[in-house]
Amino acid sequence: MSATLCESRTGPLATLATTRPVLTVRLDAVAYNTRVLAARARRLMAVVKADGFGLGGADVARTALAHGARALGVATLTEAVELRTAGIGAPLLSWLDAPGADPSDAVLHGVDVAVPSLGHLEAAVAAGRRTGRAVAVHLYLDCGTARDGCAPELWPALCAAAWRAELTGAVRVVGVMGHLACAASLDPQANADATARFVHGVARARAAGLRPALRHLGATAAVLGLPATRFDLSRVGAGLVGIDPTGRCPVLHAVAQVTAPVVQVRDVGAGVGVGYEHTYRTPAPTRLALLPLGYADGLPVTASGRAQVLVHGQRRPLAGRVSMDQVVVDVGDLPVRTGDVVTVIGTGDDLAPTLTEWAGWAGTLPHELLTGLGRRLVRHVVPAPPSTSPEELA
Ligand SMILES: *Cc1c(COP(=O)(O)O)cnc(C)c1O
Repeated sequence: MSATLCESRTGPLATLATTRPVLTVRLDAVAYNTRVLAARARRLMAVVKADGFGLGGADVARTALAHGARALGVATLTEAVELRTAGIGAPLLSWLDAPGADPSDAVLHGVDVAVPSLGHLEAAVAAGRRTGRAVAVHLYLDCGTARDGCAPELWPALCAAAWRAELTGAVRVVGVMGHLACAASLDPQANADATARFVHGVARARAAGLRPALRHLGATAAVLGLPATRFDLSRVGAGLVGIDPTGRCPVLHAVAQVTAPVVQVRDVGAGVGVGYEHTYRTPAPTRLALLPLGYADGLPVTASGRAQVLVHGQRRPLAGRVSMDQVVVDVGDLPVRTGDVVTVIGTGDDLAPTLTEWAGWAGTLPHELLTGLGRRLVRHVVPAPPSTSPEELA
């Protein structure tokens, strides 16, 4: 592995870490995760929505493409155009736009669009006419989330309309997609109905005269352990950034680490109330260490009272409530001083709490924590190794 914060004890980064909270983004881990996932999928789409789960959309996209991903997926046309503007040229699909959003600009950038409704189809046809390019569309069937996608009862009409639209030359149906509601489950039964609905939906599309080459249903969990849901393409987001939604496949590497410097220490007696509302009282004489990061940086208030950090190689509890800009650590009798670097979120290489532990303390998902790591954190990006060759992936 290349140099991490912990290993580079001298130099500008080490100095920075003693004065500012730092988010380290390990693109080497993204590369590793992509290789692991690509080896299990027929074709891998790297989902880099929400700025690559908050870690840098273009960085994660480039890394994934260099290590086995064949396509990119995002939620919005704006995200798609941003990736193109950053110079990224791979196949790219956007799936969560309003029917009133004009995809013309994205179409000119060679972006595919998902079509979950007749309104979206009309918008794609209009964009095809306006741009003089057949818009590549993926018909999107709701396979049981009752969330995004076309409701099953409207699917035959959507397929028929898409077939007529193809005849005009304004669109080309290149794919049919669905999404699994039980996205974290490795139990084949949990997703059996959804998979059957998807297979049925593809058959309806074919019966309507469509010839979608790409059938795609599953996401990270599908690639990790649900072979029946893999089809032609798997759309993988969480796994790239080291999140195992199943909690049962420890094959991925964590991508994000957060450290913070101690900016103040004070020695106090027993029974001292700490922070807002005094939700913590020191049980004994102790030292309190102040870290300059809080919920505006993505540390959840709901983890207050449970969360721990790694100080001098030992776990110590946060004392009191997470504030907007700061937290206090009860470091006990550790000889902690200002400028010491504390690991707040670790990568599992040492005793530091992981993203998954933080999510447990906060009653949320690791996904939410990652996407919420704020702009105020200084970012240190560990580069990925050069690209993986197709032979190495096979
Ligand atoms: C976010 C998303 C994905 C990626 O799911 P992961 O579980 O993060 O791999 C795939 N498909 C759709 C439609 C999504 O919205």
